Amino acid sequence: MSCSRCAAEAVTPSGWCADCEQQHYAWSRQHAADILWQAGSGAALAMLVGLGAPLLGLSPLLGILGVLAGASTFLGLRVWSQRRRRQQFLATSLPRAYLP
Ligand SMILES: [Zn+2]
Repeated sequence: MSCSRCAAEAVTPSGWCADCEQQHYAWSRQHAADILWQAGSGAALAMLVGLGAPLLGLSPLLGILGVLAGASTFLGLRVWSQRRRRQQFLATSLPRAYLP
């Protein structure tokens, strides 16, 4: 199997070579602030459920569900966004071999 981006021979488990992974890592630091809205959304959902449920007269134990829902929202957004950024990176950047 070769790198799906630049067709190099040696690949990492992600399907890209170490060189492309390094370039993606450097590129992805422009979007490091993504984690803010992802963690913020998860925390907001956890607070809404965890603090809202007792306000509505429901069991405070629902706070546990709120935390789980918030954490899985955060992780889901994180995975989805990283996948989207990888696609963006593939579409907008040239592998070193193709640079003029
Ligand atoms: Zn590569």
